[in-house]
Amino acid sequence: MADDQVYIFDTTLRDGEQSPGCSMNLDEKLRMARQLERLGVDVIEAGFPIASVGDFEAVKVVAGAVERPIVAALCRAVEGDIARAWDAIKSARRPRLHTFLATSDIHLKYKLRKERPEVLKAVDAAVRYARSLCVDVEFSCEDASRSDIGFLSEVVEVAIEAGAGVINLPDTVGYAMPSEYGAMFRQVRERVRGIDRAVLSAHCHNDLGLAVANSIAAIENGVRQLECTVNGIGERAGNAALEEIVMAIKTRGERMGMHTGVVTEEIIKSSRLLTSITGMMVQRNKAIVGANAFAHEAGIHQDGVLKSAITYEIMTPQSVGIKHSTLVLGKHSGRHALKQRFGELGYTLTAEELDRAYASFCAIADQKKEVADEELVAILEDRATSPEEYYHLDELHVSTGTRVRPTATVELRKGDARFVDSATGDGPVDAAYRAIERITGISGKLTEYVLKSVSYGHDTIGEAFVRVDFDGVVFNGRAASTDVITGSVKAYLEALNRAQNSIRLKQGAAAAAIETGA
Ligand SMILES: [Zn+2]
Repeated sequence: MADDQVYIFDTTLRDGEQSPGCSMNLDEKLRMARQLERLGVDVIEAGFPIASVGDFEAVKVVAGAVERPIVAALCRAVEGDIARAWDAIKSARRPRLHTFLATSDIHLKYKLRKERPEVLKAVDAAVRYARSLCVDVEFSCEDASRSDIGFLSEVVEVAIEAGAGVINLPDTVGYAMPSEYGAMFRQVRERVRGIDRAVLSAHCHNDLGLAVANSIAAIENGVRQLECTVNGIGERAGNAALEEIVMAIKTRGERMGMHTGVVTEEIIKSSRLLTSITGMMVQRNKAIVGANAFAHEAGIHQDGVLKSAITYEIMTPQSVGIKHSTLVLGKHSGRHALKQRFGELGYTLTAEELDRAYASFCAIADQKKEVADEELVAILEDRATSPEEYYHLDELHVSTGTRVRPTATVELRKGDARFVDSATGDGPVDAAYRAIERITGISGKLTEYVLKSVSYGHDTIGEAFVRVDFDGVVFNGRAASTDVITGSVKAYLEALNRAQNSIRLKQGAAAAAIETGA
């Protein structure tokens, strides 16, 4: 049986980032892009450059930072958008322009207000223009799964004739059933002249929980590129989850005669990095990357797995990068041992990163005997923050108890300036947040607050995740600390700093009105 490669097109930085509360700044996109390169994805869709100056800059930086993967930029099928996208990616070693236009009657009538012949003309012009700039052009028929198959085929033929090398037919609204979605590709392949000149691509949303099933149906019908996101993040119910698609192909690929180039051992690391950046946590029972995905708790299963893993285990935890080591680092472990352990866990640190990690490690090792691997990773994911305009926590003092009115005194630093204030609240965290509000004059509404232990035992470090609404826009914050109140305050400050940063970016941006798509 032929063993075909399925190309993995990752859109975590574009479609994924569009989900509420998942926006990433330039540095975060860059870190994620580098991890995606290690993960071995074939294409990184870095953003939608026309959307804002921030998006444009991020795409440009990612384009210059990765070597092996193709870097794609999304643009509507109009010249200005395409030119802007090209400006952002032209320095990439392997740039791709990804342009799109809706093809369903619903979108034509209510959104585009265009007749079919106009759409055909626009597709032809857009793809030709894109091809005049870039050899690698992908065209997406937005809302393809709800389009008339005859018209869809006409559009695809025009796009290929104009020079598109990749044709993406998304299930934009997550409406298709696997059999229908597969049939759509089969019919397009039967109807379109020159279809063999293009790679077919699927892009599925998870509104009915069918995104991965639809993606698999697509590759069974000739598709060779799948668009997906890490942890399945994305608008509404999200996109097809990269880790599920990849492990389904790896585990059952022999039957399908297919494989991907993904380094599956990098999956867990990618998932955790994304969680730490966005604060968007993965449910415990999520396939592949959830905390319970490889836990065989039930006695009868445990017994079976111990006797022979194959009884209940269809893939190994090691294959997705879960590592358990018996060596324990503690207070007396030096910088070299720390570096070595990070190496074993798959992280290569720069001298500067090691310095920062070592300082956090010492602070934690001072308070507890052993530092677990999960805690080391949590240390690493503590962001490097230092831009002058950001608030940093210098000192925190809280007094609380069953008969005391919770009070917090907070000292913040911003550049060279120092600020201190106190407040009372319903609890110590609330009191500290109120003190921050008094200092900064910025009031946020806490919409989500989660504390989670990183490893086992009462002395493990805790991770605090917050979502804070500043003026109608929600920002995430995350911090790890052995003290949950300090962690909560740092997480809140991170959300506040992001809000500040976003306001700065917007002020400098002539943000164009956008319609997100594909
Ligand atoms: Zn999408």
